[in-house]
Amino acid sequence: MSDDAARWSLATRLVRAGRVSPHERTAVNPPIQRGSTVLFSDIEALHGPGKSYGLEGFDVHDALTAALADISSAAGATLAPSGLAACTVALLSFVSTGGEVLVTDSVYAPTRRFCDGLLARMGVTTRYFDPRIGAGIADLISDRTQVIFLESPGSLTFEIQDVPAITRAARTRNVISIIDDTWSAGVLFKPFDHGVDVSVQALTKYQAGHADVLLGATLARDPQHMARLFRTGKELGIGCGSAEDAYLTLRGLRTMPLRMERQAASALRIAQWLEQRDDVSSVLHPALPSHPDHALFQRDFSGAAGVFAFTLPRSTTDRALAAMLDGLSLFGLGFSWGGYESLAVNCTEQFVRKTAAWKDSGPIVRLSIGLEDPDDLIADLDAGFARLHA
Ligand SMILES: *Cc1c(COP(=O)(O)O)cnc(C)c1O
Repeated sequence: MSDDAARWSLATRLVRAGRVSPHERTAVNPPIQRGSTVLFSDIEALHGPGKSYGLEGFDVHDALTAALADISSAAGATLAPSGLAACTVALLSFVSTGGEVLVTDSVYAPTRRFCDGLLARMGVTTRYFDPRIGAGIADLISDRTQVIFLESPGSLTFEIQDVPAITRAARTRNVISIIDDTWSAGVLFKPFDHGVDVSVQALTKYQAGHADVLLGATLARDPQHMARLFRTGKELGIGCGSAEDAYLTLRGLRTMPLRMERQAASALRIAQWLEQRDDVSSVLHPALPSHPDHALFQRDFSGAAGVFAFTLPRSTTDRALAAMLDGLSLFGLGFSWGGYESLAVNCTEQFVRKTAAWKDSGPIVRLSIGLEDPDDLIADLDAGFARLHA
């Protein structure tokens, strides 16, 4: 990018990032090349530095990683075929047998499954910590601790973590900090400015934005950390996703701030509407002043995403909840959020808590707000509440 980039705002950078300088008769977007083989002009080049195999990607992958790194002011980015694969590559890059990872208890459920499964079989122990632990994390760090894994806000329950306090403690003890920054899409929160070593994003969500791509990224500011991430992906044979998926994700990035702004505004309106109902126990949205971590959210985030949850009274029966959710006409029932369409899921079955007790034991419903008119979405939910009480 040109020197202008430093003074451009995020929206401008999202339009410019990863673009090659224009010359005559080129398209705006990079070409989609499909390939397993990379061809070289001579044997010196064949064995020289740089990419040598299709798993490492072609121009469109380079454009996407350059754009992601630019937006996050990272030293680089690696791609993985899903957001979950990006989480596992990041963890595997910094652990070894006999070590220990400290993981937020609010972590994305499949990341927990990886820690309790493959990492445990490798002889790496996981200890979960209260997402609101803050500087208290220092007491949990042992000589075996290799990684602290954060996610803020937490999946399903939306606690905001005191990331600077946690990363300060991590640095003092030479522990690597990794954050799953999917909710912020790498733009609402700046992990590296808050002391995080490695950031992971499920590009599947807002970056791709149209519910048609699975892709993930790992990013780091320190080139040595970046080199570890590259190496782990390569050793595992983790590829960079198809050229079509990289293309769609890069295209999604260009319009992401517009989509997110609209989705966030609609989500906040719907959260406020839910908060006023006396048949809703709590609304778990960090941009609401009533949220227990609202001050941290205000301090560290530049805005909100369009995904949040609410809880219903403990007395809610499964049948009533099914009547409410099954009958929704605009909200799809599905897990992978961040697309243009609204989704609702009952998250209670995914919910696990090993540390501090979760006081609110009624059903948790997570909403991902899409690009529909928020009035139509509110009407759909309102009819759902009528079915809940019928
Ligand atoms: C969806 C999600 C992932 C995984 O992304 P996939 O591409 O679906 O594998 C990881 N972390 C969080 C927080 C997510 O919401």
